[in-house]
Amino acid sequence: MPTTAGTGSEVGRAAVIIDERSHTKRIIFHPKMMPRVVISDPALTVGMPAKVTAGTGMDAFSHCLEAYCAPGFHPMADGIAVEGIRLVANALVRAVHMPSDLEARAQMLAAAAMGATAFQKGLGGMHALSHPVGALYDTHHGMTNATFMPYVLRFNRPAIEERITRLAAYLRLPSPGFDSFLAFVLKLRKDIGVPHTLFELGVDDRQADLIADMAIVDPSAGGNPLPLTRAGAADIFDAAYHGRL
Ligand SMILES: [Zn+2]
Repeated sequence: MPTTAGTGSEVGRAAVIIDERSHTKRIIFHPKMMPRVVISDPALTVGMPAKVTAGTGMDAFSHCLEAYCAPGFHPMADGIAVEGIRLVANALVRAVHMPSDLEARAQMLAAAAMGATAFQKGLGGMHALSHPVGALYDTHHGMTNATFMPYVLRFNRPAIEERITRLAAYLRLPSPGFDSFLAFVLKLRKDIGVPHTLFELGVDDRQADLIADMAIVDPSAGGNPLPLTRAGAADIFDAAYHGRL
């Protein structure tokens, strides 16, 4: 019974723990951890504070978006991901600002389950960078993904432009393309209070090298549309720290 609308762990076979000695996040995975019955009741999520609603909702968004952009032929995951993103676009701002809107809460719960279903295809740079930052600075997972989101999109642009144009058309954004989708992401972040930079998120740049080292060996890195090189990860971190888009 999920009480947030973000991780989608109700449809997953994994749990995450933090190893406090090595400051790394570790994933425990077993097929039998898949729940037999899920009750997704939006009434259980109305008490979530706005900040947690925003952060977890952006986690669901990043699951759908990274899965959709991950390389590989998986049209079912892609279909689930784009509809999940449409639900987020429709409901997240409302869920944050009108906490008892059950329809918006229900759409976000669906988007969360859809994101975790779709990311069986893969994740990417947002999660690969967010995991070490979260482990080292104890930042909120979804908020950290959301902070990285536009910078990772910009890095991946050459590989995802065509896909993102199709997504922008599905979302009925004006002049559908990479730029209109990026503008949509930036506006959504602003509307729900996502920090624009890592600095605003409370992260310093003293461990930038370590974070880049950790990001490229993170299990999510393999799903990034462009190979996530050491230099690429360092560049994304630097851009996200300074707000350089
Ligand atoms: Zn996530």
